[in-house]
Amino acid sequence: MADISKSVPFDRSQFEELMKKRFFFSPSFQIYGGISGLFDYGPPGSALQTNIVDLWRKHFVIEESMLEVDCSMLTPHDVLKTSGHVDKFCDWMCKDPTTGEIFRADHLVEEVLEARLKGDKEARAKEAGATNAPVQEESDDKKKRKKKVKEIKVTRLDDEIVREYEFILAQIDNYDGQQLGEIMKIHDIRNPANNGELESPRQFNLMFQTQIGPSGGLQGYLRPETAQGQFLNFNRLLEFNNGKVPFASAMVGKAFRNEISPRSGLLRVREFLMGEVEHFVDPQNKQHDRFDEVAHIPLRLLPRGVQLEGKSDVLEITIGDAVEKGIVDNTTLGYFMARISLFLEKIGIDMSRLRFRQHMSNEMAHYACDCWDAEIQCSYGWIECVGCADRSAYDLTVHSKATKTPLVVQEALPEPIVVEEYVVEVNKKKFGPRFKRDAKAVEEEMLNWSQEIKEVKSAHLASQGKITVAANGVEHEVDAELVTIEKQQRKEHTRTFTPNVIEPSFGLGRLLYCLMEHSFWARPEDTQRGVLSFPAVVAPIKALIVPLSRNAEFNPVVRQLSAKLRSLGVSNKVDDSNANIGRRYARNDELGTPFGLTVDFETLENGSITLRERDTTKQVRGSQEDIINALVALTEGKMLWTNAVEKFGEFNATQE
Ligand code: AMP
Repeated sequence: MADISKSVPFDRSQFEELMKKRFFFSPSFQIYGGISGLFDYGPPGSALQTNIVDLWRKHFVIEESMLEVDCSMLTPHDVLKTSGHVDKFCDWMCKDPTTGEIFRADHLVEEVLEARLKGDKEARAKEAGATNAPVQEESDDKKKRKKKVKEIKVTRLDDEIVREYEFILAQIDNYDGQQLGEIMKIHDIRNPANNGELESPRQFNLMFQTQIGPSGGLQGYLRPETAQGQFLNFNRLLEFNNGKVPFASAMVGKAFRNEISPRSGLLRVREFLMGEVEHFVDPQNKQHDRFDEVAHIPLRLLPRGVQLEGKSDVLEITIGDAVEKGIVDNTTLGYFMARISLFLEKIGIDMSRLRFRQHMSNEMAHYACDCWDAEIQCSYGWIECVGCADRSAYDLTVHSKATKTPLVVQEALPEPIVVEEYVVEVNKKKFGPRFKRDAKAVEEEMLNWSQEIKEVKSAHLASQGKITVAANGVEHEVDAELVTIEKQQRKEHTRTFTPNVIEPSFGLGRLLYCLMEHSFWARPEDTQRGVLSFPAVVAPIKALIVPLSRNAEFNPVVRQLSAKLRSLGVSNKVDDSNANIGRRYARNDELGTPFGLTVDFETLENGSITLRERDTTKQVRGSQEDIINALVALTEGKMLWTNAVEKFGEFNATQE
């Protein structure tokens, strides 16, 4: 990553202006007024996204031999009912009954309490006579929203209230609707725009509903995550992997969530690209055999316990130590956290603004038993960009039960084992005539009993000579003539188990946005123009070719050079406009183009060309062949710019 420490301070409006001007992204359907939470990516934004996805595939899918799939986005109701999304994939919203305005309850509480704390800090600063005392910097976005928050006053708060607000904010994600409602009542949180009282928080399901087919009879949803398609193909994937776990499937695809209040540009949108990995692992052995390769990687962790104390101090620790100390549960979870960190570093995220935050118990999705989010700090605060969850056996179990399809692994045992268990056996001859059309349901009910229930029923049958069985809504009496429930021994040659799933889930739009912010800076000598210091591997275009002037003599060389680079996989653009070379380079600094090649009269004479690097603006010069070879190595990350300067020597001639 470029050393942009000498840059002028980050200015969101300047950054947004650049995003708009160079069409990285813009609101969808804008000439129709736009729809919040929907965005289109322009040429540099799309190329950047493609390059991030490409690197993601190399880093995860190829490096780890994952089984990549591409599944339907349209998902029938039954699948998402079973997965729990129909009932539980919700956020809490509250409504202003007079204006009809809707707020996401946790976001509202957060904004109002933060605003009050800010007012308090200012009041304290005034009291201390230091009117210019620095107050913690706040994002522009929050500032804009707070313009609407009329109640923000410079008001001194009680010390105890300050502590309570800080405590609530530190665990804002941990509250359910009832708790949020109570906080709103106790702390008198109202509609900031008109001070109107709000209704109690209600659940709002985030899925987009639709109908599949013309009859309207088949209800469906746009998928809220790509994971379900991977779970439903488990048996095929297992077979593809020769029946063995661990293995991982992976998918890049769109997901849709009807967010209550989309905001913060690309960070909270209604349609976004995800990259998801489902790593299926034996629940009795969650060790990852490549953990040694990453054990030394340092991570910044914010464990659950620290947050519950109302604090946010990160712990800097290697992932090896974190697993050994039990902070991170197992080496598979730890392996993926480290691999996520390496991936984020590779695409150019500033590592000092990355942390892994463990979910608190209420915050966890309905399917997860542990979760660490990779959060990246940007001008909107700390943003969850990658979730790394242990989904245990939840999804495979519920889908298996709903469809009566075993979604399990059968592992051959080295030695057969003797299993003792209660077995239900019905007397077929008497059972059918006795229960008639209920016979099948009564039998199935008994067969499906757990071992614990079978044990109780067996004892009952022995002592009372009969048991009761609920089936088809009726209590049936079954006597000892019709059924036996006895302990039996059998030899097992295989072990059958439902694998657990460790899931790293990437919001690629959020990553792209954070990367763009982290890469943005302005040179002190040209503060009006931004530079985007993307690493070459993800930069939308790798090289700019600039002929010294529009002189037609340059055309053949320029064309040849461009074709040669394309053939070597180096995307490039020719800028033969009238602008001077410095200006042409500056325009491409805004697009994040890392290298520039200047074709001048010397090139025509002796074939040499100049290569310029974006962040340092330094140049080197050499033969076309040598420079092209170096450029390929540089764009593939196989050579550093400092090595190129060492090899060719710095070239200082001014070209303008
Ligand atoms: P989740 O399944 O909620 O853990 O989300 C997985 C990832 O998707 C998160 O880590 C985010 O990066 C991303 N994500 C979730 N919701 C949104 C959204 N509304 N807009 C953009 N990205 C999102």
